[in-house]
Amino acid sequence: MTLIRRWIARPVHWLPKFDPHSLQIRLTVGMALVSALGIGTLAIATSWQMQRQLVATHKQTIKYIFDRFDRDVMHYSERNPAEKGLQPAIDSLSADRVLLWVKRPDGAIAAQSMPLSGRDDDTSKGLLGLPARQMMPQVSEIGGRFWVWCSGPLTVKGTHLGQLYIAADITEDRGILEGLIRTLALASGAAIVAMTVAIALYVRRSLRPVLEIGQLADRISVRELDTARIQLQNAPSEVRQLAQTCNTMLDRLAQSWEQQRQFVSNVSHELRTPLTLVSGYLQSTLRRATNLSEPQREALEIAASEAERTIQLLQDLLDLARADRGYLHFQLEPLLIVDLVAEVVEMAKQYSHREIAIVCGEDLLEASADRNRLKQVLLNLIDNAVKYSPSDTEIKVGVRSFGDRAIVEICDRGVGIPLAQQGRIFERFYRVDEARSRSVSPGESLATGGTGLGLSIVKTLVEGMGGTVTVRSKPGEGSTFGVILQRD
Ligand code: ADP
Repeated sequence: MTLIRRWIARPVHWLPKFDPHSLQIRLTVGMALVSALGIGTLAIATSWQMQRQLVATHKQTIKYIFDRFDRDVMHYSERNPAEKGLQPAIDSLSADRVLLWVKRPDGAIAAQSMPLSGRDDDTSKGLLGLPARQMMPQVSEIGGRFWVWCSGPLTVKGTHLGQLYIAADITEDRGILEGLIRTLALASGAAIVAMTVAIALYVRRSLRPVLEIGQLADRISVRELDTARIQLQNAPSEVRQLAQTCNTMLDRLAQSWEQQRQFVSNVSHELRTPLTLVSGYLQSTLRRATNLSEPQREALEIAASEAERTIQLLQDLLDLARADRGYLHFQLEPLLIVDLVAEVVEMAKQYSHREIAIVCGEDLLEASADRNRLKQVLLNLIDNAVKYSPSDTEIKVGVRSFGDRAIVEICDRGVGIPLAQQGRIFERFYRVDEARSRSVSPGESLATGGTGLGLSIVKTLVEGMGGTVTVRSKPGEGSTFGVILQRD
């Protein structure tokens, strides 16, 4: 019982997500509607035609009887007055479901079929009360039964005998016909359902290659731009053409991405050397010159700090370009995380003059990482915590383990990052708020306004070491960045 209940309650993964705007649903609904309309029209036309045929057959029968009635009266009356032949003629032409009667001009019944005579039920009353019509067979419901009937004047041997009525009971035939129509309606409904299912499967199958193209385009990252190409088997030629076009586009994208990477790498390389020289000269001038006026010293300090910032930017760009090309190598080794964190925090305290506390429960926690790269990562994150939090607030660096992972968390009580931007801060050159982030006051040295590359370098380096970076943040309350590494 519990097994059955569990089976019913299990999540159904094979059901596609219902999206009323998807091409698949639109095509399925459109094609199903057209086929339902076709099948429905055919079924309605067939039943109408069958009904018409039934009535036409009966109309023909009563017309035939009507046409031969005067001859039969003549035959049965011989030398007697024509009225004498009425009853025998009616008796000979009456049948189970065919009734005849003649009304005199004064309205009295001159002769009638046996089932009518002497009866006083609704059917007899209804039939005998029918109005006179000039030979126009029609269908009427009388006494709960269906009749095809007609009437016309009867003249035999030059004597007008009155009005002849003929009525055929078609209730049974109609019943059979209605049964047939019901079966036809059921068969049509079943055909429409079967056709809709078949159409849905066919449309889904036909659109699968298009979905595959979309999924692949969604998955391709910069790293796979060179290799990822769409390969489709047994796809319709239009879709193959689309895949071909996408592949050509990917070729061009890969080519221009490579050119751009090359360009950035070359420019960074070419600019870094002279800038390092300029920075060196500026630093030594600042150190040695004794006769500088205050404005001159200030201008030189700004120039030195901007040169330093630009060198850092070029170094970051070179690192990212190398990482993109897979040229960034990591020397992974088991590291005592707490020792490394203490070293980094000491360095950060010196340049930031901020209170940075280490919170650690496991002194001997080891993780596999590249010493210098991990230092660079932690310095970057602490640098951000310093930049984006008020100087009188504390920064905490926590070290803990979680299963087979070691986690280093850098926590500040600063401005925080809105949820909508938390996914984007790891993008290159993305900065939450230019005005908020950038600061150019010379006194802040390394902690001056960043470039928007810091977190993308952090992400690239941590992922290169087989780890991940996380962020939890609330505007106005602070942020916590986590570096998760494999324990050794
Ligand atoms: P930047 O050089 O501007 O610091 P990053 O890539 O290091 O560039 O960071 C990207 C953006 O993320 C920053 O501009 C800043 O808006 C936001 N950010 C990063 N760290 C923090 C933090 N600790 N607190 C608040 N915002 C942060």
